[in-house]
Amino acid sequence: MQQDADVIVVGAGFAGMYMLHRARQLGFRAVVIETGSEVGGTWYWNRYPGARCDVQSMSYSYSFSDDLQQEWVWPDRYATQPDILRYAKHVADRFDLRRDIRFNTRVTAARFDQAQNVWQIETDAGGLFVAPFLIMATGCLSVPKVPDVPGIKNFRGRVLHTANWPQEGVDFSGQGVGILGTGSSGIQAIPHIAQQARHLTVFQRTPNFSIPAWNGPISPQTQADLKGRYSELRYKSRNSYAGDYADEYVVSILDLSPQEREVQFEKRWQEGGFNYQYAFADVMENAQANELAAEFVRNKIRGIVRDSKTAEMLCPKGHPFGAKRLCVDTGYYETYNRPNVALVDIRADPIQDMTAGGLRTATSTYSFDTLVLATGFDAMTGALTRIDIRGRDGVLLRDRWQDGAKAYLGLAVAGFPNMFTINGPGSPSVLANMVLACEQHVEWIAALLAHSRENGIAVIEADSVAQEDWAREVTESADRTLYTRAASWYLGANVPGKPRVFMPYVEGFCVYSRTCDAVAASGYSGFHLASGG
Ligand code: NAP
Repeated sequence: MQQDADVIVVGAGFAGMYMLHRARQLGFRAVVIETGSEVGGTWYWNRYPGARCDVQSMSYSYSFSDDLQQEWVWPDRYATQPDILRYAKHVADRFDLRRDIRFNTRVTAARFDQAQNVWQIETDAGGLFVAPFLIMATGCLSVPKVPDVPGIKNFRGRVLHTANWPQEGVDFSGQGVGILGTGSSGIQAIPHIAQQARHLTVFQRTPNFSIPAWNGPISPQTQADLKGRYSELRYKSRNSYAGDYADEYVVSILDLSPQEREVQFEKRWQEGGFNYQYAFADVMENAQANELAAEFVRNKIRGIVRDSKTAEMLCPKGHPFGAKRLCVDTGYYETYNRPNVALVDIRADPIQDMTAGGLRTATSTYSFDTLVLATGFDAMTGALTRIDIRGRDGVLLRDRWQDGAKAYLGLAVAGFPNMFTINGPGSPSVLANMVLACEQHVEWIAALLAHSRENGIAVIEADSVAQEDWAREVTESADRTLYTRAASWYLGANVPGKPRVFMPYVEGFCVYSRTCDAVAASGYSGFHLASGG
């Protein structure tokens, strides 16, 4: 029987690269299949101006090799997309990963052969890869969502999507630009496009909360200090809610006096970034606490944006703070003080259709040369359901998930033996530092593969009852918070027709990884492990 590897990994982002390395370390033959022509995953595709990570560089990086984390120098507190891609390439070179990565190849179908207990994987390059184990490292935010803007075919200008940005870059000098989307990607791109373009019109459907990054270079002293404490910081990260070493849950907003609250909010605002959300124990639990945190941010917006009508349009009022993913920016709100930037509220005045030279709302017409879509992703499941993945009895994963994605621990799906999903639905994934979340899943899966080899196990499959129980836990946990009170991509609400199921696990990275460890220690409860005979 043809067998190309022990493990086929789909995707050469941070998850797939480390999966390859870890599998090799354990003596497995692994092959990675990657659509792009380079490693890096999301950081390969998302090259829009201003693209930057909003988790701090020293934290958003691999911890599995102390040599690697000691030798790499991050220039900025928050790394740019080119720096992260440079890092990913360095990791690929340093660990000699490329020889087992098939670039420019898209997986189109995967079928579990029950007779042989192997996966057969088809690609757009033709041919078949065969291996006992299939690991989907396809990313949570890797399938761009292109909105159905009426009459978009009429538009004669250029249409660009932030998540599929031209490799050669785009020069907006002298151009009129329109942008749709004010989530993290839009909020990062808008200040950069505004600096270059002749004019920028931002078509906003929903304003988002954004906290300043206060980005800047990391001084050699700070870098040396953090590196000296790396093992302590990584330990703290692994035992934290978000997989990060920033202080969390320092205080409950409602326990503070109004004056103390202002001090705490201001402190977190001045620190910048996600800790404005994670430092407060009750911000995602209690609507009153949440509203206090939200109003502080709205007042900051009102203080920054000079035109009071524009400021009010930028103040999010329809959803709790943090229920749509928090954004982290550099100069976002300040950009609306520029004379060449206009904000249009397309919820109040919806787009009617696009014209050859721009678009029309119910009351106005707008002209631009280029339309930028910063309209997000078919998150968490899109990359899995677009592939024809067939498990036992030829059942399609897409059909199995038509009423909502369920995966035991977010790692494995009943009926799809020997397949694992890194950062799959039901794992903390996007609520955590993704690099550490990748490492935790990779290490857990690798240990299970080694356990199987040692014990003559050929088939590993999630139990359907364990999967149901886990899915209930994921849903009930989310329902206890304010996360479900917004039409977010966490819920699949941004994709028409997608079932509304809250996909990330909200109890935290540390709680989750302890659960995974307990499952392993119990001999993999919730999994059926069977010999091949
Ligand atoms: P997003 O958060 O889903 O935002 C999409 C934006 O497009 C929203 O403002 C949405 O409005 C708007 N939109 C979508 N369809 C539209 C339509 N038909 N008409 C008008 N507006 C439309 O997508 P994203 O900004 O790409 O970010 C997605 C996630 O990627 C982030 O939440 C984050 O997890 C990750 N990300 C991370 C970084 C980083 O720094 N690490 C940077 C970028 C992205 P509605 O809200 O009204 O739907």
